[in-house]
Amino acid sequence: MAARTGQDYIEAIGSKAITVELHGRQTTGGITEIPEFRNLIRSYAALYDMQHEPGLRDVMTFESPTTGDRVGTSFLMPGDADDLARRRQMMKTWAEWSNGMLGRTGDYLNVAVTAMAGAADWFAQDDPRFGDNIRAYHEYVRENDLLLTHTLIMPQANRSKTVSEQSDPFLAARIVDETDDGIVLRGARMLATIGPIADELLVMPSTVIRGGPDDAPYAYAVAVPCDAPGLRFLCRESFDLGRSHFDHPLGSRFEEIDAVVVFDDVRVPYERCFLLRNPELCNGIYNETSAAAHMTHQVVTRTTAKTEYMLGLVSLLTEAIAIEGFQHVQEKVAEVIIAVEIVKALLLASEVEAEANRFGVFTPAWAPLNACRNWYPRFSQRFPEILRQLGSSGLMALPTEADAFGPAREDVERFLQGAAIDGIDRVRLFRLAWDTCLSAFAGRQALYEYFFFGDPVRMAGALVSSYDREPFKKRVRELLHRDEPDRAAAYDPARMTTAS
Ligand SMILES: Cc1cc2nc3c(=O)[nH]c(=O)nc-3n(C[C@H](O)[C@H](O)[C@H](O)COP(=O)(O)OP(=O)(O)OC[C@H]3O[C@@H](n4cnc5c(N)ncnc54)[C@H](O)[C@@H]3O)c2cc1C
Repeated sequence: MAARTGQDYIEAIGSKAITVELHGRQTTGGITEIPEFRNLIRSYAALYDMQHEPGLRDVMTFESPTTGDRVGTSFLMPGDADDLARRRQMMKTWAEWSNGMLGRTGDYLNVAVTAMAGAADWFAQDDPRFGDNIRAYHEYVRENDLLLTHTLIMPQANRSKTVSEQSDPFLAARIVDETDDGIVLRGARMLATIGPIADELLVMPSTVIRGGPDDAPYAYAVAVPCDAPGLRFLCRESFDLGRSHFDHPLGSRFEEIDAVVVFDDVRVPYERCFLLRNPELCNGIYNETSAAAHMTHQVVTRTTAKTEYMLGLVSLLTEAIAIEGFQHVQEKVAEVIIAVEIVKALLLASEVEAEANRFGVFTPAWAPLNACRNWYPRFSQRFPEILRQLGSSGLMALPTEADAFGPAREDVERFLQGAAIDGIDRVRLFRLAWDTCLSAFAGRQALYEYFFFGDPVRMAGALVSSYDREPFKKRVRELLHRDEPDRAAAYDPARMTTAS
């Protein structure tokens, strides 16, 4: 099958027997009928439709090396700088459509699986079959244009102990059985964003938590279909409250549900196993295969779109109520402008310094991307704060669509007008700002940006221990001793005295 249309995606997801627990109901199948998922599915469908827009065809798709059909560009194995730029263009197109609010568009994990397939020999170290498996899986996902999500970490229960030291050995999903055909998983994992509306679930190691030899039953990398028997998605409350786009402009479009994943003896055939019982290889999976660099390239492309959105929104807000002349307001707008230029520069640097990895896959430079993945989670918390500081009570003087277009319209037009905007449009704009900085949707976005790629504290530790600082230390040492006399030659022990 070629790159999917939105309708292809909706039909596929609708036909799967995916099991979800949501708002006190357990449902199997009929995912497209669940009101809390309907808008999100529609948004994802719109992304798939973009693959078929005539003007975007060459950006969004390329010819499959096996069938010649047009398939999604995020599956392209980059061989040179042009491939990497083409893939970034594709990711940018999707990211700009949601202004970076959709964190789990397919490209995020497609580029990871592509990098892993490029590094198939690395997986073959564990078992020669695993190298073939990851290659075949990449082709399977590419040719069927499947939407992936992933689950990486054990439930929080007791973070002072390792996964194997928890009082319940089946708290975190572990290998409970191994048969001639494959393995069986029992336990739970956190946290699968878009789990209920995805085709496939990657059950992979954490990006930052390291396993030791005792953690072998928990150390694996496998893939299962989201409707595998025994698999359940225990969803949080939805922040799509069924309101209009006017009232909840972001929540009604981009609410990506998160879910705890429960494995109730889920069978995984060997063909879908890529690493098994190997904590050491699991610890290296993202760096050794360059998947981390390719995923972060997608993340920074998305966060560039989001930061640009923040700048657009802050600028419209300050214009609307004519506060841009105040110095502290300019200082805050400047913060956002600087953030835009920082993310763009780091993305560009990663491409300018890109080179082929040891498997021949053209890979963006890790250092600027690693800097961004450490900086952005913290800095992005400033955006909602700036919006709140600038929007102030305007973020609460927010009648709903029913008021704006109902009996209160005259009040809205008169009392809620802005300096450069009429009352209705001002409410529309400030509702968007509210959904960006104050609503449940906004709170979840802030938490997402802070944690989704791993705990920033431990990412900082990884940055410090892996960054090559020797050249800089050497320069400082050289300065410390520059132009110094030869003290050894000048040293005269007879001149040393002791204070009495
Ligand atoms: C909105 C959202 C969506 C997400 N989506 C996904 C997804 O789709 N797939 C997925 O796999 N994961 C997802 N995650 C999970 C994400 O990977 C984790 O949040 C992240 O790895 C941090 O782990 P944790 O949440 O278990 O925090 P914890 O590890 O429990 O940390 C809690 C606090 O304790 C501190 N802490 C705990 N242990 C240590 C330690 N050893 N050293 C120092 N400090 C420590 C942390 O710094 C933090 O302050 C998502 C998270 C969020 C918030």
